[in-house]
Amino acid sequence: MADYDYDLFTIGAGSGGVRASRVAAAHGARVAVAEEHRIGGTCVIRGCVPKKMLVYGAHFAEDLEDAEQFGWNIEGKSFDWIKLRNAVLNDVTRLEGLYTQTLGNHEVTIFEERAEITGDHEVTLASGRKVTAKYILVATGARPFVPDFPGAEHIITSNEAFHLDALPKRIIIAGGGYIANEFAGIFNEFGSKVTLVNRSDVLLRGYDEALRDRLLQISLMKGIEFKFNTTFKSITKTASGTLQVELDGCDDMEVDAVMFATGRVPNVEGLGLDKVGVELGQRGEIKVDAYSKTSVDYLYAVGDVTDRVQLTPVAIREGQAFADSVFGKGEPYAVDHSCIPSAVFSHPPIAAVGLTESEARNTLGSVRVYQADFRPMKNVLAGRNERSLFKMVCDDSNGRIVGIHMIAPDAAEMMQAAAIAVKAGLTKADFDATTAIHPTMAEELVLMR
Ligand code: NDP
Repeated sequence: MADYDYDLFTIGAGSGGVRASRVAAAHGARVAVAEEHRIGGTCVIRGCVPKKMLVYGAHFAEDLEDAEQFGWNIEGKSFDWIKLRNAVLNDVTRLEGLYTQTLGNHEVTIFEERAEITGDHEVTLASGRKVTAKYILVATGARPFVPDFPGAEHIITSNEAFHLDALPKRIIIAGGGYIANEFAGIFNEFGSKVTLVNRSDVLLRGYDEALRDRLLQISLMKGIEFKFNTTFKSITKTASGTLQVELDGCDDMEVDAVMFATGRVPNVEGLGLDKVGVELGQRGEIKVDAYSKTSVDYLYAVGDVTDRVQLTPVAIREGQAFADSVFGKGEPYAVDHSCIPSAVFSHPPIAAVGLTESEARNTLGSVRVYQADFRPMKNVLAGRNERSLFKMVCDDSNGRIVGIHMIAPDAAEMMQAAAIAVKAGLTKADFDATTAIHPTMAEELVLMR
């Protein structure tokens, strides 16, 4: 390996790149990583982490309202967006420092600049410096996709949402997926008038239909408006700074901001992948095998840039498996992409693992579904008319649980434990044999009929 400057050169210091780099270094490899923005990547800097903090911040709107039913007198409550925004941004900076420190502790060299592959085993940095590496790992992530239409330059994406100088009084959110539903909840709780505009009438494609319906019903009750089967024709900025939005499928609207959350595309441009013959897929993603190896023998890719499953914990696992397999002493191993639990941090959140009811019916034939449809105790006393829904989907031939789906306060927290059981192949009878913890929402998991 001594012929090269490094054993591993990683492009992109997000979740996957940082994990791969530090684990490879721990295995004894000489590692360098290049990052053109900030150490931590999408999840830490402009994704999951600051988003979750905003979700917490937003939820106080309901908590404070509910608190009055629990005897608390809360006079003069008000919300200061700039205070929350700055607190969140400061914490992001703290986390960026911790990620940088972790790399430093493992003696990973950090180049805070753009890197491009300029030849076999060769990377050229923005400064002009050339370095060589035995292996190159591309972990450059993805960025928001925005369709092209007149006035598209006036929109924001989740990238900008964390930096707003003021909350929009009226906001359109385009899309019907994770980011659209999460930010619709956040802005709505902060008091913005939110309209979610989606090209189809399907929200959160891939999640169980009953949960999607429940979220729609609760979101409508909370005051979020939905325009389905609607697309954007144009956006014009008015003299007063508002946005005039011309839509196809419903009346035009005037709002203060338009945020697009219509999927994310892999960051592959300008990396020099074509120079060394790395094969890309139809959506521009880097094609990899089960071990994250590309069509070029020494070049690997992990995380969103491969567009397998765009989730942080998946990128981390892929980075870990790559580093262990290539630099560790054990046998190479691949990441198991089956049965991945996920959550949407909407208000209330959705969490799921495994097959939806309709997926199970299509693949297994005979399926049994158990359900708990209930009003959480806290909501009852608060006078909040929001019902939770749990679904357990089982293979009727052997009772094995193939999917669990929940929409409920703290659904994601409950799901992490439930997902272990589904991954382990447990049955409904195993759940029934477990004593409930009373009174909790989670006890419904072992009491479903
Ligand atoms: P999603 O894939 O979740 O949703 C995209 C939405 O945009 C869908 O409603 C889709 O409609 C619509 N859409 C796609 N293309 C177009 C287009 N050309 N014009 C108009 N609408 C379009 O993407 P997000 O941007 O919300 O999030 C990106 C990814 O980030 C997610 O897939 C997820 O993996 C990850 N993420 C995960 C989170 C979590 O774990 N909690 C939170 C945030 C993001 P249709 O359904 O009709 O295709």
